[in-house]
Amino acid sequence: MRLTQKKIEEIMLSILGEEGLPLVKELSGKQNVSEFELADKLKKDIKIVRKMLYLLYNHNLVSFIRKKDKIKGWYIYYWTLQPESIKFSYIKRKKELLGKLQQRLEEESKELFFTCPNRCVRLNFDQAMDFEFHCPECGELLSQENNAERVETLRKKVGETEAELEELMEKRKARKTVSKASKKEVKARKREKQRKVPAAKKQATTKAKKLVKKKL
Ligand SMILES: [Zn+2]
Repeated sequence: MRLTQKKIEEIMLSILGEEGLPLVKELSGKQNVSEFELADKLKKDIKIVRKMLYLLYNHNLVSFIRKKDKIKGWYIYYWTLQPESIKFSYIKRKKELLGKLQQRLEEESKELFFTCPNRCVRLNFDQAMDFEFHCPECGELLSQENNAERVETLRKKVGETEAELEELMEKRKARKTVSKASKKEVKARKREKQRKVPAAKKQATTKAKKLVKKKL
C-alpha cells in the first residue's frame, strides 16, 4: 500500500484533530526531527507540541530518540513518523468500518422500517409497534418505508471497502513474501559461498602442489 499523504492525514486527524495536521506535515518524510524545531516551525509552545507527540507515541505512530544537549545538560527528543504503524492503523480502521457497514446492511436488509410523513422519526418494526404505528412526535400514522435505495448504497459501500481492504492486504502479503524470498536467497547464496570456498581452496592447493611438483 502506498501511504498517501491523505491517508496519513485521515488517521492523524482522528487522533489529534485538525490542529495536529501541521505537526504531521512537519514530520512527514523526515527523520529525527527535534521537538524544539517542531515547536519553532509550528509557532506553538513546546509543551503543546510534546503533548501531541506523546499522543501519537501512545498509538505507536511515532518513535523517538533522545540526545543529551552537551551545553545545556538536558535531553532533547527527536521524532520520526512510523509508516508501518500508520499503515497498520489504517487497515485496522478500515476493518472496523467494514464491520459496521456490514452490520448496518444486515439490519437494513432484514428489518422493516416505518417513517412519519412529516419526517420526525424512523422506527423499526418493534419500535413502530410500541407506538401503534403512530409518530411519537406528531401523532401521524407511520408508513412503511421503501429502503431499497438505502440498502443499495450500503451494499455499494461494503463492496468498495472490501475491495480496498483486499488490495491493502494483498500488497502487504506480497511485500512479506518478497522479503521472505529475498531472505531465502541470501541464505542460499551464503550456502553456495560456503560450498564454493573449500572447493576453491582445494583447487588452489592442488594447483600449488602441481606447481611444486613441476618445480621439483
Ligand atoms: Zn411525526
